[in-house]
Amino acid sequence: MDTHNSSITGHADADQDARYDVVVVGGAAAGLSGALTLARARRRVAVIDAGAPRNAAAGHVHSYLGREGSTPADLYADGREEVRGYGGTVLAGSVEDISRTEDGRFSVQLADGRQLRARKILAATGVTDELPPVPGLVERWGRDVLHCPFCHGWEVRDEPIGILAVDLGAAMHQALLWRQWSDDVVLFLGDAGEPDAAQAAKLGARGIRVVRGQVTAVEGAPGAPVVLMADGERVQRRAVVVLTRLQARAGYLAGLGLQPVDQVANGLNFGTAVPAGPTGATSVPGVYAAGNLAAPMIQVLPAAAAGLAAAAAITAELMMEEVDAAVAGAAAAAAG
Ligand SMILES: Cc1cc2nc3c(=O)[nH]c(=O)nc-3n(C[C@H](O)[C@H](O)[C@H](O)COP(=O)(O)OP(=O)(O)OC[C@H]3O[C@@H](n4cnc5c(N)ncnc54)[C@H](O)[C@@H]3O)c2cc1C
Repeated sequence: MDTHNSSITGHADADQDARYDVVVVGGAAAGLSGALTLARARRRVAVIDAGAPRNAAAGHVHSYLGREGSTPADLYADGREEVRGYGGTVLAGSVEDISRTEDGRFSVQLADGRQLRARKILAATGVTDELPPVPGLVERWGRDVLHCPFCHGWEVRDEPIGILAVDLGAAMHQALLWRQWSDDVVLFLGDAGEPDAAQAAKLGARGIRVVRGQVTAVEGAPGAPVVLMADGERVQRRAVVVLTRLQARAGYLAGLGLQPVDQVANGLNFGTAVPAGPTGATSVPGVYAAGNLAAPMIQVLPAAAAGLAAAAAITAELMMEEVDAAVAGAAAAAAG
């Protein structure tokens, strides 16, 4: 998907050395939603976006009320226009570093040399999906290689599904969950271990076939992936389901002392995220995080909601600073 279309302002139009109330890093669901709320709150806001939303490989966005089946490109292009419609700025670019300035604000350094100033930062740069190291997965990612039944399950309903196990507990959950969409689910165990009696009973009761041995590759034409086993067996599927590792895209926050931390569920370390509270506030004053960057498991709609919540909190924080300054100014005027 090319999100760097004409609706993102390119380098030539960039607002050099501009000062903003808020710079939003990342311009997909979380970032654009936050920017829309900030622009409508009459805040000077700039979004910097590198044009690689997490769901770029997928043809359509599903389970987003009111926009069911939009392409990711259309959804975010509309979001950019909505932000601009209220006076916000959306720039194509990649943020490399953010540092605190002497006056307590932020200097945002872009990879192409541009620099923006801001009072607050909303970080919404999402995660990168790291796929298991099986040849053939990357090329089919988001189309025949899937991860989320709520995103893609309907599209492959009643079709043959294969689950490539990475972790046995997670693979059990995936297999039993995807069984909701198809009665032809095969679990490829690989190195994940052997199901115990209780797990085997669940798989058996739901008619999920187990294939043992190493998966060496996934190949085949679009819409017809074939799982190749080390012993030469070939298992035709319509979709192959994987568990990805979710890595926070947070390198540009390191200079502020903000580091992503490991995410663990049911004993499985499944990635990293930037710790943030319910309104997106991080441990660094003035820096908020929203969307997958702070909550790697959430989907597009809750990512947009998180951007909105962070924008509301930022607006309140800016308001309090301005009230304090006004009170101090009034006191000074009365004294002098
Ligand atoms: C294949 C696939 C299909 C999916 N399908 C669905 C679906 O149908 N429905 C659903 O609800 N969810 C779906 N999801 C989940 C969905 O992608 C996420 O919930 C959503 O992308 C999170 O939005 P976000 O704004 O937090 O992050 P992202 O969408 O990842 O956006 C982050 C943005 O920040 C930018 N960025 C990153 N680093 C920088 C930087 N340093 N400087 C500037 N910009 C930067 C990126 O280029 C990107 O545009 C899918 C996920 C995948 C992997």
